[in-house]
Amino acid sequence: MLVLFRCPRCQQPNQATLQPQGGTIACAGCGLQIAYQAKDVAQGHLRRCLVCPSDDLYVRKDFPQKLGLWIVVLGFAASCVTWYFRQVIATFAILFGTAGLDLLLYLLFGNVLTCYRCHALYRGVRNLDRHGPFQLEVHERHRQIVAREQQAQQLTASQP
Ligand SMILES: [Zn+2]
Ligand SMILES: [Zn+2]
Repeated sequence: MLVLFRCPRCQQPNQATLQPQGGTIACAGCGLQIAYQAKDVAQGHLRRCLVCPSDDLYVRKDFPQKLGLWIVVLGFAASCVTWYFRQVIATFAILFGTAGLDLLLYLLFGNVLTCYRCHALYRGVRNLDRHGPFQLEVHERHRQIVAREQQAQQLTASQP
């Protein structure tokens, strides 16, 4: 199991391999160490996020969403050019081709588990069925918690 996360202290992006017997996730930037136990990662399952206190995780495709978007945008731009030159067959070939490419990439990429709160990403987790797909309400709830925490931090930081 692999985790990709942003350090909660210095915000540096990090990557760590999770050991089944438990251990620590360390930040390469500031040296922060986050301990986890064997029961947290028992049999390749994941019950909660190891980086932050949240236990809300969702399943999504391990697919760079920006790449998918760019394929569609470029395909559309190219089809506008061929449409302008009245190349009808070429236009449809490009549109169907890019849609097909998107679908193919989508099918090729596996699933990953993502934390709603800190956006840590877990690869190689087993039994993903116990976690649902992305839900906007849960996302919104965590976004508000994070915003409130940041506000509280700013308040304490601004006090003399
Ligand atoms: Zn750090
Ligand atoms: Zn998290």
